[in-house]
Amino acid sequence: MHLWSRELWRIAWLATLGVIMGWLFGAPGLGLAAGLGVCLFYHLRQLRALYLWLTLTPSEEPPAGPGLWGELLDRLYRYQKSQRITQGRLRATLARIQESSEAMRDSVVMLDRHGDLEWWNSAATKMMGLQTAHDRGQHITNLLRDPAFVRYFSSREYSEPLTLTSPIDERRILEYQITLYGDDERLLMARDITRLHRLEQMRQDFVANVSHELRTPLTVLSGYLETYSDLSDQLPPRLGRSVAQMQAQTLRMQNLVDDLLLLSRLEIDQGGKDHQPLALGPLLESVCQDARALSGQQHETPQQIALEIESDARLIGSEQELRSAVSNLVFNAVRYAPGGSTITLRYAELAEGGACIEVKDNGHGIDPIHIPRLTERFYRVDKGRSTATGGTGLGLAIVKHVLIRHDGRLSIESRPGFGATFRCIFPAARLS
Ligand code: ADP
Repeated sequence: MHLWSRELWRIAWLATLGVIMGWLFGAPGLGLAAGLGVCLFYHLRQLRALYLWLTLTPSEEPPAGPGLWGELLDRLYRYQKSQRITQGRLRATLARIQESSEAMRDSVVMLDRHGDLEWWNSAATKMMGLQTAHDRGQHITNLLRDPAFVRYFSSREYSEPLTLTSPIDERRILEYQITLYGDDERLLMARDITRLHRLEQMRQDFVANVSHELRTPLTVLSGYLETYSDLSDQLPPRLGRSVAQMQAQTLRMQNLVDDLLLLSRLEIDQGGKDHQPLALGPLLESVCQDARALSGQQHETPQQIALEIESDARLIGSEQELRSAVSNLVFNAVRYAPGGSTITLRYAELAEGGACIEVKDNGHGIDPIHIPRLTERFYRVDKGRSTATGGTGLGLAIVKHVLIRHDGRLSIESRPGFGATFRCIFPAARLS
């Protein structure tokens, strides 16, 4: 404020001096104009100095100036200097981030809010074939054109990663994961999982082959055992008991091998070829009949098994696979709920769209701590009870895989002492 008033005083003083000088020569107006002209000349000179400094040598110290101009130049210089320091710091941080992303073996691609490529590391060049000069600014789906990736990208649902072959090398398997950040921008990460994938395939093939190879010897064994058990009255009683036990164990192994083979097929085979619209009434009715027969064998007082069909919407899927999934759930209810309890098999449409097949029992129920792990292979709440009732430990794993192949999911609700409810939920797109 002090400098500002000094500047005003300077103008007033020059104007007054001009008027006095002009008055002495008999032309005060001309004197005033001359005084103001000197002022203007002085300010234009300072302005020129500022202009030259900013355009020619902005990083050097500003020219020295008097009064307000000097202060203005000084402040501009200090502001520029602090901006340069901040910029330098930001540039260094950015360079460090880029350097560390460069060092990563996984691909990192930054996309703007439209999905156009902004920046990527060299791993992305190697894995996805992105070319620095050529591809910047291109839309990601112009470069990764696989329909599965395009669907994944536009779904905006990125909780699960997507596994696909590399666009430049069919032998490499990549796992893509997108994260939304900032102003609707996306970070695309890709991991090479070729080795893991190969191991997983080897594991699947191994299980499938072993199960397949075990089938024939087991059939031969069970055939002989059946012949011996037909002759059991001619055998000594101890041998007869052994034969009966061997028969039961062979049957258990056969069930296990069948379930392992089914699970392998569900994992390896793409599926979908035999999908057709299915009327669920007859299918569920026949599962109920089998369950009633099993209940009669397993319990002294058979269970009440009710069927409630509340929708006639047809479900698009594989009859064989759905039968196997529902049978597993209903047979589990028969095996784990006590004799005399009630089991309800229900098919209904859901208010939020889609449909569900529900299997509900009022048996002992399951402790909630076990629920998240129930669909793991060979996970059993009570191992002794499961084997005694003929369980293989693979039933719910089969159900989960069948549902995945039908775009569905399994929901399990249970409280100890209050029974259990298993729901197979299918999306609306699966109904016809
Ligand atoms: P298992 O062949 O042992 O039955 P599953 O995968 O079918 O294998 O089931 C896993 C476990 O879940 C079972 O061992 C059992 O303890 C529990 N379970 C499944 N269904 C029920 C049910 N309706 N009531 C109580 N427990 C159940």
